[in-house]
Amino acid sequence: MKKNFDAIVVGAGPAGSSAALTMAKAGLDVALLERGAFPGEKNMFGGVLHRLTALEEFFPDFWDQAPLERHIVKKGLTFMTGEATFNVNFDTQASDRTPYNGYTVHRPRFDRWLAEEAQKAGATLITRTTVDDVIREGGKITGVTTLRDGGALKAPIVIAADGVLSLTAEKAGLRRPKFDRSHMAIGVKALIEMPKETIDERFGLVRDQGASTEIVGCTEGVRGGAFLYTNYDALSLGLVLHLGSLADSGKTPYDLLNRFMAQPQMAKLLRGGRLLEYSAHLVPEGGYEMMPELVGDGIMVAGDAAAMCIVTGLNLEGINLAAQSGVLAGKAALEAHNSRDFTKSGLSIYRRMLEESFVLKDLKLYKRAPHMLHNDRIYTSYPELVCGIMDEIYRIDGNPKSTMTQLLMRAVKEKVGLKNALADVYSGWRSL
Ligand SMILES: Cc1cc2nc3c(=O)[nH]c(=O)nc-3n(C[C@H](O)[C@H](O)[C@H](O)COP(=O)(O)OP(=O)(O)OC[C@H]3O[C@@H](n4cnc5c(N)ncnc54)[C@H](O)[C@@H]3O)c2cc1C
Repeated sequence: MKKNFDAIVVGAGPAGSSAALTMAKAGLDVALLERGAFPGEKNMFGGVLHRLTALEEFFPDFWDQAPLERHIVKKGLTFMTGEATFNVNFDTQASDRTPYNGYTVHRPRFDRWLAEEAQKAGATLITRTTVDDVIREGGKITGVTTLRDGGALKAPIVIAADGVLSLTAEKAGLRRPKFDRSHMAIGVKALIEMPKETIDERFGLVRDQGASTEIVGCTEGVRGGAFLYTNYDALSLGLVLHLGSLADSGKTPYDLLNRFMAQPQMAKLLRGGRLLEYSAHLVPEGGYEMMPELVGDGIMVAGDAAAMCIVTGLNLEGINLAAQSGVLAGKAALEAHNSRDFTKSGLSIYRRMLEESFVLKDLKLYKRAPHMLHNDRIYTSYPELVCGIMDEIYRIDGNPKSTMTQLLMRAVKEKVGLKNALADVYSGWRSL
């Protein structure tokens, strides 16, 4: 096997394949290393793929080429208690036209397609190959070692795109070996097969239209929420749970998921479906505050490996940030090859490009969002407050009515407390 390349990319997820595609298209000799039997084999997400503007330069008609499921035209937020749900839905025709704003995808299909596009552009994709360390020469990173016999590969640039637990970034000394559990969430998901016509009818969709809903109040007091997304002929349903809160609760994510699926409000949406698989994966919920060093001598870090994830409770964004950072790391590698400067300072253009793009701007903007999400009242008291108010509004039982202000004040005092409510409004306003 060839041992020397212009660049090595570790991990063929969205970040790694985007980096490899960018460099290969520009003529660099790139190795794209993936531990799975094929790219995407081990990858899961919710998931809604938001618009990948970074890749539109390579695929102007992305929606015709990529293996997508449905484009999202309905977005919903549901507050849930054991007895009631309150839904807020946004349904827009503007999302029913290209370029679409978001799509559901199956990661094994999508990641494989993107890596194959990088391959078509000239990258060498090497699967079933786990990187276990970086090679250093004269203080610079000049390659990686793998778990294969004699599997060392050399290149003046390594891009660590090996996901949330990035061993490559750790071995390069760019991040601390231990994670703060307050920065991590775990996602568990069930994929439920269902005929397309049933999904269309149940969710009010036609053609390839899709719906996505985020749900709060369904995690038995554990900080976190649920999602329900429509694929072409399957539903993706899962929970994203804050790791520290989950550990403290003593509950297991699969028990929580199974009980959530059995709730009457969910069971009626899942009726007749067939469970295809369960999966789980970590989410770098801490975002900007847990970000490692992005650049070192001979190395850059992209995507989840760099904690480029935004979790606000309304959206979970990661793939768009991964693809954008991968493309920018690829562009920085091209610049470094032109100037023959592979030092930290030569590669620091990567950070500058990220600062100018939405990636670091958005991560900085939402850097307080994880703190806001550490408020237990969001997961218990507020869903009860919202559903309680709706219950009173719709209850006509011969008792004298209250004004909206009286209803609201009574519910706030009872469920949350006035002081807490004011503090939460202030914290939400500062975070989002
Ligand atoms: C439950 C859940 C729901 C989510 N929902 C959404 C959503 O709706 N929308 C959204 O945009 N994002 C979502 N995300 C986040 C999104 O999945 C990630 O941000 C995204 O996958 C990051 O891409 P990446 O390429 O950086 O990393 P990954 O997708 O993790 O890819 C890393 C790749 O590196 C490989 N690898 C790892 N270690 C090694 C090694 N040592 N050697 C070789 N290869 C290696 C892996 O096999 C993998 O292929 C969700 C995540 C979870 C867990």
